Amino acid sequence: MIDSEIREISRNLGSISYEDSTILITGGAGFLGSWICDSLIQQNAQVICLDNLSSGRLENISHLLDNDHFRFIEHDISIPVDLDEKLDFIFHLASRASPFEFEKFPLDILKSNTYGTLNSLELAKRSNAIMLFTSTSEVYGDAHIVPTPESYQGNVNPVGIRGCYDEAKRVGEAFCMAYVRQFNCDVRIARIFNTYGPRMRSDGYYGRVIPRFIQQANNGDPITIFGDGKQTRSFCYITDQVEGLFRLAGTDNLKGEIVNIGNPEEVTILQLAHNIIVETNSKSPTIFQELPPDDPKRRCPVIEKARDLLEWHPKISLKDGLRRTIYSFNDKHKH
Ligand code: UDP
Repeated sequence: MIDSEIREISRNLGSISYEDSTILITGGAGFLGSWICDSLIQQNAQVICLDNLSSGRLENISHLLDNDHFRFIEHDISIPVDLDEKLDFIFHLASRASPFEFEKFPLDILKSNTYGTLNSLELAKRSNAIMLFTSTSEVYGDAHIVPTPESYQGNVNPVGIRGCYDEAKRVGEAFCMAYVRQFNCDVRIARIFNTYGPRMRSDGYYGRVIPRFIQQANNGDPITIFGDGKQTRSFCYITDQVEGLFRLAGTDNLKGEIVNIGNPEEVTILQLAHNIIVETNSKSPTIFQELPPDDPKRRCPVIEKARDLLEWHPKISLKDGLRRTIYSFNDKHKH
């Protein structure tokens, strides 16, 4: 299934191709990073995957380790790194991203998005590479304007539990713009909205809402709704997200652009739970648990900018994406 979806990404990219480019992916063993590595290998790029395996997993990239076009470096990007290769592109993704991890590992998160972004920018500057920083819808915090355009400046609690992630990504963005303005580097910023799909972790601190609900439904365990479940999210399927990121890094003349990449199909968490129960044919009940502090009430992107600049729009509906993800959670279908 993943192989055919990787080919689907290349087809959707049309004339954009990374063939023969040398590309560094920080966080390349994570959920999103490993899809990017797979897709770049499929496009005949030279891939350097850097990951400290904190939340990323070797099993996501183990099938690539023998490939001549692929090099894995176990390293934490918040510590400077020297590379022999001349890079054409850098995708800086390295960061823990689950709200449960915000509480447990706030310093890791602050470092990978601040020092890590600075170290990535230095590499980009040295190689004259195009750099894409994966920022987040979290820079908008608990937004007052929803759907949210890139021009919205955010409502973030810097000292709350989510502050380590939200503020670190905001500093990361500020570093990127400083390198654009002071050194004329070609940096682009993607503000990623909730993304899901095969390979997403469901375990422990790492589990985001969709893999958690799928696992609970498959096991017949109660589905844990936080708060009243009326908060919303807009979920983007992984192949759409990867295509959007490739378009943002691979389109000419986008230096210093900031673009929301997400799917504007907004659902409440209650609706999401219902959809997953139906799709998995589960008998799981729903139970209500305390809402974590600062959990945004609504989240939905305006994607006009991505449509105009990147000719991109998401193609996979939540229903289709959930089916694909649920299918992949069945052990038999993992590769
Ligand atoms: N959520 C939930 N039950 C869970 C996990 C998450 O109701 O077991 C809610 C969470 O409170 C949030 C939404 O689902 O409102 C999305 O959570 P996720 O952890 O995926 O990431 P977030 O969008 O909050 O960064």
